[in-house]
Amino acid sequence: MSEHYGFDKIIGQDLAKRVLMKAVREQSPTHAYLFLGLQSTGKTTTAMEFGKALNCENPVDGNACGDCSICRAIDHGNFPDMRIWSPDGQNTKIDQMREMRDLARFGPTKGKWKINIVEQGDTLNDESANCILKLLEEPPAYLINILLFRNPGSMLPTIRSRCQMLRFTQVDAEQLRVRLVEDHGAGEEEAEFLAVYSQGCPGRAISLIRNNDFFDRRDEIIEVARIAASGSPWAALKIAGVLRTSSNDKGVRDTLLESLDMLVLWYRDLLAAKLQGDQVSVVNLDRIDEIKDQCRRYPHAGPLANAVDAILQAKRAILGNANGQIVTEALMMKLARG
Ligand SMILES: [Zn+2]
Repeated sequence: MSEHYGFDKIIGQDLAKRVLMKAVREQSPTHAYLFLGLQSTGKTTTAMEFGKALNCENPVDGNACGDCSICRAIDHGNFPDMRIWSPDGQNTKIDQMREMRDLARFGPTKGKWKINIVEQGDTLNDESANCILKLLEEPPAYLINILLFRNPGSMLPTIRSRCQMLRFTQVDAEQLRVRLVEDHGAGEEEAEFLAVYSQGCPGRAISLIRNNDFFDRRDEIIEVARIAASGSPWAALKIAGVLRTSSNDKGVRDTLLESLDMLVLWYRDLLAAKLQGDQVSVVNLDRIDEIKDQCRRYPHAGPLANAVDAILQAKRAILGNANGQIVTEALMMKLARG
């Protein structure tokens, strides 16, 4: 494995890295950043690397040295001046943001900068967001707040206008493939598959390397699709529960969301194969023969396009806290009927 260090460990995101490294070199960060990008594109990792480089005693060309007492404290998770605020359940609570605001009055104890990283800013409600507005607007000189968002629609304009925004994009599959092998010890075939399957989200790809639970789970989901393709609503209904249950200890909701993500990728592959024939490029590239075989059972693309819509609709319903059993049973009936 090759040794990337500092910002170079982060895969892709060249623009964001350039901006942040310049701020480190010049010791001139702004006080409020907003990182916008899909889950697992490297927002938290980048924010932490930024906090580390800013506080490092001997930064090298915009990067943390990795060796001083501060770098080592951060690597071991016992640096008091950098804190990650994650949602408590499905929301970032007002009490958390009040605590963040109140603690901001105290300067850093070990480093030069005090860093707050707010994960999933999307989960701030108006009240929690308003609570930190003043902190973004008139921050103490030592304070840097980094807000991470997944969805541009969930950013309040009042927050957006007070922050410097950096976008985190999906990483090119070839670039990701190379780094999965070089930095993370993935096998060649595994890296090729995961680079495409993760849809350019490095954190997702890395978490799936040698992850047998994931590959077993995908087998189960593909089997669900195969049964739905057989066209028997009764058989489809019987297997609906598989979407909600798994052998690992994730909750029902997370299991279901993961199942629906796998299922939609499978149906998108079937749809692509139906439309593009032999020249198709698919996400589940190790299962191409099965994809071609299964899509032959559909006389035309219409039912497959409807299936993709139905799965996405089911996902939205689950995110809106609909009942998992009702949603999955209705979905399976739709998939079987075509
Ligand atoms: Zn250092």
